[in-house]
Amino acid sequence: MRLVFLGPPGAGKGTHAKILSERYQIPHISTGDILRSKIKDGSEIGKKAKQFMESGGLVPDEVVIDMVTERLQEPDTKKGFLLDGFPRTLNQAKAFDLALSQLEMKLDSVLYFKASLETLLMRLTGRRVCSQCGATYHVKNLPPKKEGFCDFCENTEIIQRKDDNEDTIKNRLDVYDKDTAPLINFYKSLDVLSDMNADLDVEELDIDLEKVLAPIVNGGSE
Ligand code: AMP
Repeated sequence: MRLVFLGPPGAGKGTHAKILSERYQIPHISTGDILRSKIKDGSEIGKKAKQFMESGGLVPDEVVIDMVTERLQEPDTKKGFLLDGFPRTLNQAKAFDLALSQLEMKLDSVLYFKASLETLLMRLTGRRVCSQCGATYHVKNLPPKKEGFCDFCENTEIIQRKDDNEDTIKNRLDVYDKDTAPLINFYKSLDVLSDMNADLDVEELDIDLEKVLAPIVNGGSE
Protein backbone atom coordinates (compact mmCIF):
# COMPACT_ATOMS: atom_id res chain seq x y z
CA MET A 1 0.00 0.00 0.00
CA ARG A 2 1.55 3.30 -1.08
CA LEU A 3 0.00 6.34 0.45
CA VAL A 4 0.56 10.08 0.69
CA PHE A 5 -0.95 12.13 3.51
CA LEU A 6 -1.62 15.66 2.33
CA GLY A 7 -2.89 18.51 4.49
CA PRO A 8 -1.95 21.53 6.57
CA PRO A 9 0.24 21.35 9.66
CA GLY A 10 -1.83 20.30 12.67
CA ALA A 11 -4.34 18.24 10.68
CA GLY A 12 -3.29 14.98 12.37
CA LYS A 13 -1.24 13.43 9.55
CA GLY A 14 1.56 12.30 11.86
CA THR A 15 -0.81 10.78 14.42
CA HIS A 16 -2.69 8.72 11.83
CA ALA A 17 0.46 7.85 9.92
CA LYS A 18 1.86 6.24 13.08
CA ILE A 19 -1.35 4.25 13.66
CA LEU A 20 -1.59 2.98 10.07
CA SER A 21 2.11 2.28 9.76
CA GLU A 22 1.89 -0.07 12.74
CA ARG A 23 -1.36 -1.63 11.60
CA TYR A 24 -0.19 -2.38 8.06
CA GLN A 25 3.51 -2.76 8.84
CA ILE A 26 4.64 -0.23 6.28
CA PRO A 27 7.23 2.47 6.96
CA HIS A 28 6.05 5.91 8.01
CA ILE A 29 8.23 8.34 6.11
CA SER A 30 7.96 11.83 7.56
CA THR A 31 10.25 14.37 5.91
CA GLY A 32 9.85 16.63 8.97
CA ASP A 33 11.07 13.80 11.27
CA ILE A 34 13.98 12.96 8.97
CA LEU A 35 15.02 16.62 8.81
CA ARG A 36 14.75 17.03 12.61
CA SER A 37 16.96 13.99 13.14
CA LYS A 38 19.50 15.41 10.66
CA ILE A 39 19.57 18.64 12.65
CA LYS A 40 20.13 16.65 15.86
CA ASP A 41 23.02 14.74 14.23
CA GLY A 42 24.61 18.00 13.11
CA SER A 43 24.79 16.74 9.50
CA GLU A 44 25.30 19.06 6.52
CA ILE A 45 21.67 18.65 5.41
CA GLY A 46 20.57 19.44 8.95
CA LYS A 47 22.64 22.63 8.99
CA LYS A 48 21.11 23.68 5.66
CA ALA A 49 17.55 22.87 6.77
CA LYS A 50 17.58 24.41 10.27
CA GLN A 51 16.98 28.06 9.36
CA PHE A 52 14.13 27.23 6.97
CA MET A 53 12.43 25.02 9.52
CA GLU A 54 12.71 27.42 12.41
CA SER A 55 11.11 30.22 10.42
CA GLY A 56 8.31 27.96 9.18
CA GLY A 57 9.50 28.11 5.56
CA LEU A 58 10.15 25.16 3.28
CA VAL A 59 13.50 23.44 2.93
CA PRO A 60 14.67 23.70 -0.73
CA ASP A 61 13.05 21.19 -3.08
CA GLU A 62 16.29 19.53 -4.21
CA VAL A 63 17.25 18.69 -0.61
CA VAL A 64 13.96 16.93 0.23
CA ILE A 65 13.56 15.32 -3.20
CA ASP A 66 16.99 13.65 -2.91
CA MET A 67 16.23 12.61 0.65
CA VAL A 68 12.93 10.95 -0.27
CA THR A 69 14.23 9.38 -3.47
CA GLU A 70 17.02 7.73 -1.46
CA ARG A 71 14.62 6.64 1.26
CA LEU A 72 12.28 5.00 -1.27
CA GLN A 73 15.09 2.75 -2.41
CA GLU A 74 15.51 1.15 1.00
CA PRO A 75 14.23 -2.43 1.11
CA ASP A 76 11.46 -1.83 3.66
CA THR A 77 9.48 0.19 1.09
CA LYS A 78 8.90 -2.98 -0.97
CA LYS A 79 5.76 -3.61 1.12
CA GLY A 80 4.62 -0.03 0.65
CA PHE A 81 5.01 3.23 2.50
CA LEU A 82 3.17 6.11 3.99
CA LEU A 83 4.53 9.55 3.15
CA ASP A 84 3.72 12.30 5.64
CA GLY A 85 4.74 15.87 4.79
CA PHE A 86 5.97 15.14 1.28
CA PRO A 87 5.36 16.28 -1.43
CA ARG A 88 4.79 19.87 -0.35
CA THR A 89 5.28 21.71 -3.65
CA LEU A 90 4.32 21.02 -7.26
CA ASN A 91 8.00 20.54 -8.09
CA GLN A 92 8.28 17.89 -5.40
CA ALA A 93 5.10 16.19 -6.62
CA LYS A 94 6.41 16.01 -10.19
CA ALA A 95 9.83 14.74 -9.08
CA PHE A 96 8.08 12.16 -6.87
CA ASP A 97 5.97 11.01 -9.82
CA LEU A 98 9.10 10.49 -11.86
CA ALA A 99 10.90 8.66 -9.04
CA LEU A 100 7.91 6.35 -8.61
CA SER A 101 7.80 5.45 -12.28
CA GLN A 102 11.56 4.82 -12.31
CA LEU A 103 11.13 2.52 -9.32
CA GLU A 104 8.13 0.91 -11.05
CA MET A 105 5.86 1.82 -8.18
CA LYS A 106 2.30 3.14 -8.35
CA LEU A 107 0.69 5.42 -5.79
CA ASP A 108 -2.51 3.92 -4.36
CA SER A 109 -4.03 6.95 -2.71
CA VAL A 110 -3.52 10.52 -1.53
CA LEU A 111 -5.50 11.22 1.61
CA TYR A 112 -6.30 14.88 2.01
CA PHE A 113 -6.68 15.85 5.68
CA LYS A 114 -9.06 18.80 5.62
CA ALA A 115 -9.47 20.73 8.90
CA SER A 116 -10.77 24.11 10.05
CA LEU A 117 -8.36 26.87 11.06
CA GLU A 118 -9.70 26.67 14.60
CA THR A 119 -8.80 22.96 14.85
CA LEU A 120 -5.34 23.51 13.37
CA LEU A 121 -4.50 26.33 15.79
CA MET A 122 -5.81 24.41 18.79
CA ARG A 123 -3.76 21.32 17.87
CA LEU A 124 -0.54 23.15 16.99
CA THR A 125 -0.42 25.49 19.98
CA GLY A 126 -1.18 22.64 22.43
CA ARG A 127 1.18 20.10 20.87
CA ARG A 128 4.09 18.80 22.92
CA VAL A 129 6.71 16.27 21.82
CA CYS A 130 9.20 14.05 23.58
CA SER A 131 12.70 15.43 22.99
CA GLN A 132 14.03 11.88 22.81
CA CYS A 133 11.57 9.56 21.01
CA GLY A 134 9.40 12.17 19.29
CA ALA A 135 6.11 10.85 20.76
CA THR A 136 3.45 13.55 20.48
CA TYR A 137 1.04 14.78 23.14
CA HIS A 138 -1.51 17.54 23.50
CA VAL A 139 -1.80 19.59 26.68
CA LYS A 140 -5.60 19.13 26.76
CA ASN A 141 -6.58 16.29 24.43
CA LEU A 142 -3.71 13.87 24.95
CA PRO A 143 -1.74 14.70 28.08
CA PRO A 144 1.04 12.37 29.25
CA LYS A 145 0.45 10.24 32.34
CA LYS A 146 2.92 12.29 34.37
CA GLU A 147 2.64 16.01 33.62
CA GLY A 148 5.54 17.30 31.55
CA PHE A 149 7.20 13.89 30.98
CA CYS A 150 7.12 11.31 28.20
CA ASP A 151 5.15 8.10 28.88
CA PHE A 152 7.79 5.98 27.13
CA CYS A 153 11.17 7.56 27.94
CA GLU A 154 11.87 7.63 31.63
CA ASN A 155 12.43 11.13 33.05
CA THR A 156 12.50 12.75 29.62
CA GLU A 157 10.68 16.05 29.40
CA ILE A 158 8.19 16.81 26.68
CA ILE A 159 8.73 20.13 24.94
CA GLN A 160 7.06 22.48 22.50
CA ARG A 161 8.55 22.26 19.00
CA LYS A 162 10.41 25.47 18.12
CA ASP A 163 8.17 25.94 15.09
CA ASP A 164 4.95 25.53 17.13
CA ASN A 165 4.97 29.16 18.37
CA GLU A 166 2.26 31.51 17.13
CA ASP A 167 4.30 33.55 14.60
CA THR A 168 5.87 30.49 13.00
CA ILE A 169 2.54 28.66 12.90
CA LYS A 170 1.06 31.56 10.96
CA ASN A 171 3.92 31.42 8.48
CA ARG A 172 3.60 27.63 8.09
CA LEU A 173 -0.11 27.96 7.36
CA ASP A 174 0.55 30.71 4.77
CA VAL A 175 3.24 28.57 3.14
CA TYR A 176 0.80 25.65 3.06
CA ASP A 177 -1.87 27.76 1.31
CA LYS A 178 0.57 29.11 -1.24
CA ASP A 179 2.84 26.14 -2.02
CA THR A 180 1.13 22.96 -0.89
CA ALA A 181 -2.62 23.50 -1.37
CA PRO A 182 -2.20 23.45 -5.20
CA LEU A 183 -1.37 19.75 -4.84
CA ILE A 184 -5.03 19.09 -4.04
CA ASN A 185 -5.97 19.81 -7.66
CA PHE A 186 -2.86 18.07 -8.97
CA TYR A 187 -3.81 14.79 -7.26
CA LYS A 188 -7.53 15.29 -8.00
CA SER A 189 -6.65 15.37 -11.68
CA LEU A 190 -4.74 12.08 -11.28
CA ASP A 191 -7.88 10.64 -9.68
CA VAL A 192 -6.15 9.41 -6.51
CA LEU A 193 -7.37 11.98 -3.96
CA SER A 194 -9.75 11.22 -1.08
CA ASP A 195 -11.06 14.01 1.16
CA MET A 196 -10.93 13.22 4.89
CA ASN A 197 -12.68 15.21 7.59
CA ALA A 198 -9.70 15.94 9.84
CA ASP A 199 -11.79 17.91 12.34
CA LEU A 200 -12.93 14.54 13.70
CA ASP A 201 -11.21 13.05 16.72
CA VAL A 202 -8.63 10.30 16.29
CA GLU A 203 -10.98 7.30 16.70
CA GLU A 204 -13.61 8.70 14.34
CA LEU A 205 -11.15 9.63 11.63
CA ASP A 206 -9.49 6.23 11.96
CA ILE A 207 -12.83 4.58 11.11
CA ASP A 208 -13.20 6.81 8.02
CA LEU A 209 -9.65 6.08 6.93
CA GLU A 210 -10.27 2.35 7.20
CA LYS A 211 -13.33 2.70 4.95
CA VAL A 212 -11.36 4.58 2.30
CA LEU A 213 -8.44 2.16 2.48
CA ALA A 214 -10.55 -1.02 2.47
CA PRO A 215 -10.58 -1.48 -1.33
CA ILE A 216 -6.78 -1.08 -1.42
CA VAL A 217 -6.24 -3.44 1.52
CA ASN A 218 -8.69 -6.00 0.14
CA GLY A 219 -7.35 -5.59 -3.37
CA GLY A 220 -4.01 -6.72 -1.97
CA SER A 221 -2.10 -3.91 -3.68
CA GLU A 222 1.61 -4.38 -2.91
P1 AMP B 1 6.50 18.81 9.61
O1 AMP B 1 7.11 17.99 10.70
O2 AMP B 1 5.96 18.00 8.48
O3 AMP B 1 5.52 19.84 10.13
O4 AMP B 1 7.71 19.65 8.97
C1 AMP B 1 8.45 20.58 9.73
C2 AMP B 1 9.25 21.48 8.81
O5 AMP B 1 10.18 20.69 8.04
C3 AMP B 1 8.44 22.23 7.76
O6 AMP B 1 7.87 23.42 8.27
C4 AMP B 1 9.52 22.52 6.70
O7 AMP B 1 10.37 23.55 7.11
C5 AMP B 1 10.33 21.22 6.74
N1 AMP B 1 9.80 20.23 5.76
C6 AMP B 1 9.23 19.03 6.04
N2 AMP B 1 8.87 18.40 4.91
C7 AMP B 1 9.20 19.22 3.89
C8 AMP B 1 9.06 19.15 2.49
N3 AMP B 1 8.48 18.11 1.87
N4 AMP B 1 9.52 20.20 1.74
C9 AMP B 1 10.13 21.25 2.32
N5 AMP B 1 10.27 21.40 3.64
C10 AMP B 1 9.82 20.39 4.43
